[in-house]
Amino acid sequence: MNLSKSKNPWIAGLSSFVIHLVLLLVLAIWTITSTGLGRRLSIESGVLTREEFSLETVVVESDTDDQPSQSGLGSLDVNSSLLTSDIQPNPLPLPGNVSPKPESISDTIRQSGTEGVGSAAIFLNSSFEGRSAKNRLAIGAKNGATGPSEDAVDAALAYLARHQKNNGSWTINLDHGPCIGQCDHGGQRLDPHEIAATGLALLCFLGRGHTLQEGEYSEQVSRGVYYLVQNLKSQSGRATWLTSVAESEMYEHGIATLALCEALQMNGDKELLTKPCQEAINQIIYAQHNDGGWGYHPKTPGDLSIVGWQVLALKSANAAKLGVNAETIRGVDIFLRQHVKNDYMFFYKHGSNTPTPSMTSIGTLVRIFRGWSKTDPSILKAIEYLGDVGPSRADVYYNYYATQVFFQFGGKPWKDWNDRMRDYLINTQEKEGHMAGSWWFDLKKNTSEKESYVRVSNETGGRLYVTAMACLTLEVYYRYLPVNEAVRADFQF
Ligand SMILES: [Zn+2]
Repeated sequence: MNLSKSKNPWIAGLSSFVIHLVLLLVLAIWTITSTGLGRRLSIESGVLTREEFSLETVVVESDTDDQPSQSGLGSLDVNSSLLTSDIQPNPLPLPGNVSPKPESISDTIRQSGTEGVGSAAIFLNSSFEGRSAKNRLAIGAKNGATGPSEDAVDAALAYLARHQKNNGSWTINLDHGPCIGQCDHGGQRLDPHEIAATGLALLCFLGRGHTLQEGEYSEQVSRGVYYLVQNLKSQSGRATWLTSVAESEMYEHGIATLALCEALQMNGDKELLTKPCQEAINQIIYAQHNDGGWGYHPKTPGDLSIVGWQVLALKSANAAKLGVNAETIRGVDIFLRQHVKNDYMFFYKHGSNTPTPSMTSIGTLVRIFRGWSKTDPSILKAIEYLGDVGPSRADVYYNYYATQVFFQFGGKPWKDWNDRMRDYLINTQEKEGHMAGSWWFDLKKNTSEKESYVRVSNETGGRLYVTAMACLTLEVYYRYLPVNEAVRADFQF
C-alpha cells in the first residue's frame, strides 16, 4: 500500500498511526530481545595441543541461533545468565574513552559500559569436569600434574581433615581445635577467621572432587558446608556472615560464598544450598561500590584483592544457575579499567597505584574469564611480565592466581611456570609428623624487604592459610579447566 496516494487524509493518518504502532511494537520486541539476550558471540575451539592453544584458539562469529550450543566436556546454560537478582546494584559510571568500533572480543569488553542494563553478561565457563573421579587422573596428567603432585594434594587434604573442628569449621588459630598448638605458625591469635578458613578448606576438598555426596572426604565437606549455612544471617533477601573482625568482612564473605557456590555447582544439595547461595550472592551485588569494586565493608571503595574473591564467587554462581546481575559484572570491567597501568599491569587500589605481580595476576585472570582473547596484546604482555617475575618462594597468594593465569594461557609459558611451581611446592611440603601435608615458608629467607606484605598475610593466615593456598595451586590441573579448551560457549557481554 502506498500511503502517499491515499485520497482520505484521515485514513492515511490512521494507516500511518497503525504502521507506526506496529513499528513501535517491533522495536519494543527487538529491544527486549536484544537487552534480554545481549549480543551473542560464539567462541569455540577445537581440540588443541598445549602449544597450539597459546597461539590462536578464539574464533568469533555472529550467531543468530538462540539455542545454547554444546560441545566438548560441558555446556553453558545461557538462561542462567538471564536470571536477575532482586537486589539492585549501585549505579555505575559510564566508561570514558570509548572507541566506536570494537575489533575483537577484548575490545568489546573494554568498551562495554552500563548501557543496556539488564542484558546478559557472563563469564566463560570453566568446566568442573576435570574434578570428577573418572576424569581427574587423565586430565591432570595431560595438564601437567604428576604422581608426586597428586600425592602432595592428598597429604594436604589429610592435614586439613585432621584440623577440622568438631562444629565443622576450620580456624586459622591453630591453638584451637584438634591441633591445640601442635603446629607452629598457627596464624593470628586475635581472630580465628573461621568463615574464611572454612571456605578455603572447603575449596581444597571441592577442587579435588570431594563433594557433599562423593569422595572419601564427603563427611568433612558436608560438615563444613553445614557450618557455613548455619552461620549465614539472612535479612531482606540478602545474607552474610557476622565476622568478629570487621576489616575482613568482604574477604570472608567472598571466600565462603565461592565455596558454597562451588558446592552447589558440583551437584550439591539444591534444597539446602540454593537459597543461601543466592542470598550470599545478593549481598555481593548489594555491596559493590559505585566504582565497580568491593572494599572491606559493603559499598566502600574497591580494592582488587577483595574484588578477586567476589568475582570468582559470581562466576561460580552464574555457572550454578543462580541470579547474577548483569550490571554487576559490567561494573567489574569498569573497575579493572580503572586499576590498570599500560593496560596490563594492575594495582591494588587508588592511593597505592604501584602495579604488583599479584594484582596483575588477579586482573589478568578475571579478564580471561570475562572472555579476553589470549592473543590480546595486553594479555600477552601480562604473561611476559609474570613470567619474568616467576613463581614466588613465599607469596602463596600470588602463586595461586598466577598459576591459574598461566594454566589458562597454556603453551610454553605454562609449561615453564608449572615445572618450577609444581616441584617447588612438592619439595617444600612437610613430610612427617603432625604437620605432614602442610606448608610454611621461612619468611626471612624467602621474602625481600619489598615483600613485607607477604610476611603480613602469611603470618596473619598462618600455616592453615598457606597450606590451603598451596593445595589449591597444585589442584590447578583439573580445578577450572581452560575456558576455551573446555567448552564451546555462547558468550555474552
Ligand atoms: Zn596442627
